[in-house]
Amino acid sequence: VSGAPAQDLNEAGPIFAAVLTTGIYCRPGCGAKPLPTNKVGYPLAAAAEADGFRACFHCRPYRMAPPLPQGSDLTCRTVALILDGELDDGSENGLAHRLGVSTRHLRRRCLAELGVTPNDLARSVRAHFARRLLDDTDLPISDLAFAAGFTSIRQFNREMQRVFHGTPQDLRRRRRAGDRLVTDGGLAIRLPYDGELRWRDLLDHTRPTPGVESIRAGVYRRTIDVRGTVGVLEMSHLESGAVQLVLHLPHWEELVHLVRRARRLIGLDEPEANRLGAIRSWTNHEHALKTRLNHEDPTGYRLRQYVATDGLHVPGLPAGLTHLFPIGATTD
Ligand SMILES: [Zn+2]
Repeated sequence: VSGAPAQDLNEAGPIFAAVLTTGIYCRPGCGAKPLPTNKVGYPLAAAAEADGFRACFHCRPYRMAPPLPQGSDLTCRTVALILDGELDDGSENGLAHRLGVSTRHLRRRCLAELGVTPNDLARSVRAHFARRLLDDTDLPISDLAFAAGFTSIRQFNREMQRVFHGTPQDLRRRRRAGDRLVTDGGLAIRLPYDGELRWRDLLDHTRPTPGVESIRAGVYRRTIDVRGTVGVLEMSHLESGAVQLVLHLPHWEELVHLVRRARRLIGLDEPEANRLGAIRSWTNHEHALKTRLNHEDPTGYRLRQYVATDGLHVPGLPAGLTHLFPIGATTD
């Protein structure tokens, strides 16, 4: 992919255009129209950043859904795994091992096709996520660093400087009036997506597990287990191109993973053509039990009984939520 003329790359999917004279990279269609000779195309924002370009303040590329670039099977799988958090705790060695190639080969192929190493990509994804938290939420910067998966404030400051050329405080001051998402409690985050999402259809085709899930006035809610404590997740369609996720959690350390799982719940990272017909279950275990019990008793009575008997009762939740889905137990 790397080195191809920008217009060819455009056919293949979202690409970023960096302008040599300004040192800025943009998403496709941003207003600035530089001379073609001053322009370099990148398949990933991370690759433009690795070459020293910073994100445009007008089109704000970090607010896009992470693009899946075209490339060989190996690099596509690499990108998918990194976006899925493979390098949050793991290493490039572990990633290469999982993909069945040597680390050297993996790095070389990624550099050649994507213009970026796996580690660079993972760092960029983390910085972009943090930037969206700076825009969308009022989370204190110290909490935000850890919520975005950084291991120290120093590391957070350094990365934001590298990628966005500003301190977290600067970047938050620069957010636009409409960026901050307001709710009556909970932490609200935008989940951007590409193409079309039929939110109404998705809700209409989802059969909520009583007490664990609810659908009211266009809002999907459910209880979630966060390392042994109870959280509540809410999703609604915010605007064209974004779903609003609201999380009520006891702490923010798991945020990156929960956001990823929330995206998976509604299939946001899948190609538009095979987007989901209904909202997924939180775990495979829950899916299997829900399917089986609803099959055995289509009235839903057995599923309701099972949740009421085996699930943890949680008083004081909104919108008819009363229980966590039972974990690990069987109905026999
Ligand atoms: Zn721009």
